[in-house]
Amino acid sequence: MNELCENYIEEYGKVPLKGEYDVIVAGAGVAGVAAALSAKRMGKTVLLIEKSLTLGGLATLGLINLFVPMCNGRGKQIIYGMAEELLRESIKYGYDTIPADWLDGEPQGETKSRYLTRFSANIFALVLTEMITDSGVDLLLDTVISKPVMENGHCKGLIVENKTGREYFEGKIIIDTTGDSDILYRAGVPTYQGGNYFSYYALGTNLESMEKACKSGKINNAFYYVCGGNASLYGTNHPKGMPLFPGTTAENVTEYIVKNQKVLLEKLKKQDRQTREIVTLPGMAQFRTTRRLIGDYELKGEERFVHFEDSISALCDFENRDWLYELPYRCLVKTGFDNLITAGRSISASGWAWEVTRVIPPAIVSGQAAGIAAAMAIDTGKPIYGIDVKELQATLEKQNVMIHFDDSLIPDDPDLKVLMPGDGHF
Ligand SMILES: Cc1cc2nc3c(=O)[nH]c(=O)nc-3n(C[C@H](O)[C@H](O)[C@H](O)COP(=O)(O)OP(=O)(O)OC[C@H]3O[C@@H](n4cnc5c(N)ncnc54)[C@H](O)[C@@H]3O)c2cc1C
Repeated sequence: MNELCENYIEEYGKVPLKGEYDVIVAGAGVAGVAAALSAKRMGKTVLLIEKSLTLGGLATLGLINLFVPMCNGRGKQIIYGMAEELLRESIKYGYDTIPADWLDGEPQGETKSRYLTRFSANIFALVLTEMITDSGVDLLLDTVISKPVMENGHCKGLIVENKTGREYFEGKIIIDTTGDSDILYRAGVPTYQGGNYFSYYALGTNLESMEKACKSGKINNAFYYVCGGNASLYGTNHPKGMPLFPGTTAENVTEYIVKNQKVLLEKLKKQDRQTREIVTLPGMAQFRTTRRLIGDYELKGEERFVHFEDSISALCDFENRDWLYELPYRCLVKTGFDNLITAGRSISASGWAWEVTRVIPPAIVSGQAAGIAAAMAIDTGKPIYGIDVKELQATLEKQNVMIHFDDSLIPDDPDLKVLMPGDGHF
């Protein structure tokens, strides 16, 4: 029940049990897609539920079409596994912007160019649909998960709303990849609520950029971001006096979108309408943070260059050259909730560590780990927070994930901040 409401009605009625699965993945952003593929590859029956009509979440529907760097800024790749796989899939049939020395994988010698790429958001979404359906994961689009059914910290299943009506799906393990911790929050798992600066990025084109694309032979040059609000991740350009947007109520999401769309329209009114076009508006609110788990461990910004025994992947910083982190498994789970796990931008991290973990490559790797952990919990009958992490790490390593960074990669001055070129829009 919405605790802000004083008045409410009691609701009765039977909800049909529509299906039973080993693993239900709630939300099909990049983390959810990775989690679903990962659990399926471990031999489990998997249902992936998505409220929109497009797979990929912020990375596709939200037009955030950039895999941030997966290397340390000196030619050493740090993030591998499914992040590498999906990066390559994202550009298989669409354009890329991978620096030449990374095109065929890690370069031979040191380079300051970074392993990143832009991709076609729409083509990547199509590829994700193909990957998911070919893998044997059951997919339900246009389906909002409204309620976890809980019993003593155990989630028996999820109630959803869609064209068919209200339905119930049972799952042995539930992976919350809604990005917003919708399932965790409604299940009573402790969560932290964030706040968002004012930003809204649509994709535009104009005669000039089209000419540039024709001359360069590169279609991506035809598009650029057109903004409503234009605040960076650091809050630069956030309107003075405007409160941050938590994005956790329908009213707040609506206010955010309406205000941003009006700002964008005012900008457009001043331009020559014959010479430019908006190609795509974002299909979801571009919130970096809404709610995230307060997990068994919270990774903190100052914990760079720290090894964790339960690391599930080494991570690099997208802005600072050399800065490395490890992501503890405990950031995905909460003791007391035996079959709930999260991945993606809702994991338990704070400060700069949260910035480093929420972006596309780490979101994918945490999804990969969550899918394997789900399968292990089912096979062993252990709670998801009590699985054998060594075994999880061994499986991830077999899947080409770097669990611990090598100490030889720690710079002489670990506090030195060397910013890499970026546009602050990550
Ligand atoms: C403005 C901005 C700029 C960014 N820039 C970059 C960048 O340049 N590079 C980068 O790597 N990262 C960037 N990021 C971060 C990155 O895009 C996201 O953090 C990452 O894509 C998150 O993936 P996710 O799968 O965890 O969540 P999401 O992409 O949010 O996916 C969640 C999915 O769950 C679905 N869902 C939610 N609730 C429900 C429900 N109740 N029922 C059913 N489905 C539901 C949603 O529709 C969505 O598909 C940026 C983010 C923002 C907002």
